[in-house]
Amino acid sequence: MRPPVLDPLFAPVSTLPGIGPKIAKLVSGLVGGQPDKEATVADLLFHIPHNLIDRRHRPGIAYSENGDIVTLDVTIGRHMAPPRHSKAPYKISAYDDTGEITFVFFHPRHDWLLKTFPEGERRIVSGKVEWFNERPQMVHPDYSLSPEEAEQMPAIEPVYPLTAGLAAKTLQKAMRAAIEKLPHLTEWLNEPYLRQTAWPNFDEALRTLHEPKEQQDIEPQSPYMQRLAYDELLASQLALAMVRANMRTLGGVARTPSGDLQKAVIDALPFDLTGSQANAIKEINEDLAEPVRMLRLLQGDVGSGKTVVALAVLAQVIESGAQGGLMAPTEILARQHFASMSPLCEKAGIRLALMTGKDTQKERRIRQEKLDAGEIDLVVGTHALFQGTVTFKNLGMVVVDEQHRFGVHQRLALSGKGQGVDVLVMTATPIPRTLVLTCFGDMDVSRLTEKPAGRKPIKTVSVSLDRLEEIISRVGAAIADGQKVYWVCPLVEESEKIDLAAVEDRQRVLEHALRQRISLVHGRMTADEKDAAMAAFKSGETKVLVATTVIEVGVDVPDATIIVIEHAERFGLAQLHQLRGRVGRGEKPSSCVLLYKGPLGETAGARLSIMRETNDGFLIAEEDLKLRGGGEILGTRQSGTPGFRIARAEEHADLMEVARDDARLILETDPELQSDRGVALRCLLYLFGRDAAIRLLRAG
Ligand code: ADP
Ligand code: MG
Repeated sequence: MRPPVLDPLFAPVSTLPGIGPKIAKLVSGLVGGQPDKEATVADLLFHIPHNLIDRRHRPGIAYSENGDIVTLDVTIGRHMAPPRHSKAPYKISAYDDTGEITFVFFHPRHDWLLKTFPEGERRIVSGKVEWFNERPQMVHPDYSLSPEEAEQMPAIEPVYPLTAGLAAKTLQKAMRAAIEKLPHLTEWLNEPYLRQTAWPNFDEALRTLHEPKEQQDIEPQSPYMQRLAYDELLASQLALAMVRANMRTLGGVARTPSGDLQKAVIDALPFDLTGSQANAIKEINEDLAEPVRMLRLLQGDVGSGKTVVALAVLAQVIESGAQGGLMAPTEILARQHFASMSPLCEKAGIRLALMTGKDTQKERRIRQEKLDAGEIDLVVGTHALFQGTVTFKNLGMVVVDEQHRFGVHQRLALSGKGQGVDVLVMTATPIPRTLVLTCFGDMDVSRLTEKPAGRKPIKTVSVSLDRLEEIISRVGAAIADGQKVYWVCPLVEESEKIDLAAVEDRQRVLEHALRQRISLVHGRMTADEKDAAMAAFKSGETKVLVATTVIEVGVDVPDATIIVIEHAERFGLAQLHQLRGRVGRGEKPSSCVLLYKGPLGETAGARLSIMRETNDGFLIAEEDLKLRGGGEILGTRQSGTPGFRIARAEEHADLMEVARDDARLILETDPELQSDRGVALRCLLYLFGRDAAIRLLRAG
């Protein structure tokens, strides 16, 4: 139950003055985050101004600079009304000691103008000055007041991010009413920390941000922003910690098998494990042996060999008598995992099955029977795995590959399919520590820092699309030399048809120039078509694979040595790095050609040069964070992980660590949130929309 003190903040925005049904829609789109639901007063209040207008700026007419917002103390001169039916604007002249200015009005209302700009009288007028033919003018001034009324004008005015059709004044008015509704809430931060930081209360912070005195007040490092960012981070960390604690109390299973099956898998590998693979396996074995649920993140750059680690630890779970699931983000990848694991599983005696959305009714039924009977030990699949109808006899562990494509909810849904299901999340995006905390909470982390022996760094060049022919002939020479080539074309979702035409066109051009058959993979093909194309390329029947980014994640053809990325300027850094990781997997030196269409923008240029300079995924992730900011790296916007309104990964990283420790301590001392502080913290969870976690508490 939501604490009643919060009721005024959870009223819909349409209860505020000036917000009718139509405006409510606009406002909800702007501040709500959920397009179909009307935003609340709280949502509105978390819409923080990004700028402010200082109406105390009074330079005088002659000294007002072009584009400045100024307040002028003027005497109104002549009104120059345009002739009837003319589209020309209405003009009013005015002057002060320094010079003369013209006020300009389109679609004028005459009587209002005569009243607001009375000829010969002194007025305080504020607005934006523009110089035009060396004369200053002001189009539709924001204020015109008599000297007696002048104090009605706010000295400082917040400027909010807006949306088309929503007037600044409307939003400001609603905001003022919203602030009036702000109740005083019991403090949820701990006293010593509050004293140490000297932060204001929640309501004071919010009030100040909407009534700022200085530009500094609304900067990320101001005490007001810090306070709210911390509140938001704490809410998120607390919710994640509660989910985690809940998963743990549901009970884990201590898995301490002999390790023979794991050994059989490792012995079946045609290579030795790297040191960090062996280490990660050891860490995970230790987790599994504990009677608590495992929640671990396995981070490793592309090609670092995460799949092997996954299979080895799944063997441990399977030997202990349970079943395992491995979830891949795309069908191609699920099939590829299945294909590469099959021989290993066969040797070790693990019964493996594949599950995708394309399976027939009959395939599904037979597999379901086997899953229920425990005749399948390990199932590899796409998100089809966490559909409600799929059940297991005894699911013990789930491995989620390339987690950044899945939301937290999906992960929880899957781990809910068995008792005490251990969860291993694998990601090839080397997410910086701060983002791990933001999005996954306090997970344990294993990292694969070494590449398998014998890997050579990939040589990266960027080349203008003008030199396409030259690149094609180089590709031809490489093929003649027995090499294999990926050719990637970007996909822009809005125009799938055009994209499709582009890849098909590229395939034709290459077939013609190189005089041989070329494989093609894109998202519109059926699973069988994709499989056939991939198989032809893998076996060497074709030497070039033209693809959209469906190959981005994890596809493994070790003897491919060249990747050409067309329109590289359209890809993000993380994506480029992922794509480049398709090559450099074998013994031979590899190269990556970034084909760009100039002229390059600043960010695109920076991305390409980072790609040329380094192969280090962690470095690239840090740079990516600088160039783009946190949310996009993780694709959180697409996957539906709750985003942040105020806190920013880049600017509030230090607060994140404190919030995590704070959350941990809170749950240690008051796991049911029943102390005074605990009750206040429940309010906090509601305020930031993290209240789902409260339902996990026994005391509700
Ligand atoms: P990723 O971490 O990108 O998922 P994969 O698990 O797909 O990497 O492994 C990439 C390739 O490296 C595969 O062909 C795999 O068989 C191979 N590989 C994995 N570990 C080793 C190792 N220790 N030595 C040599 N090759 C390895
Ligand atoms: Mg992989």
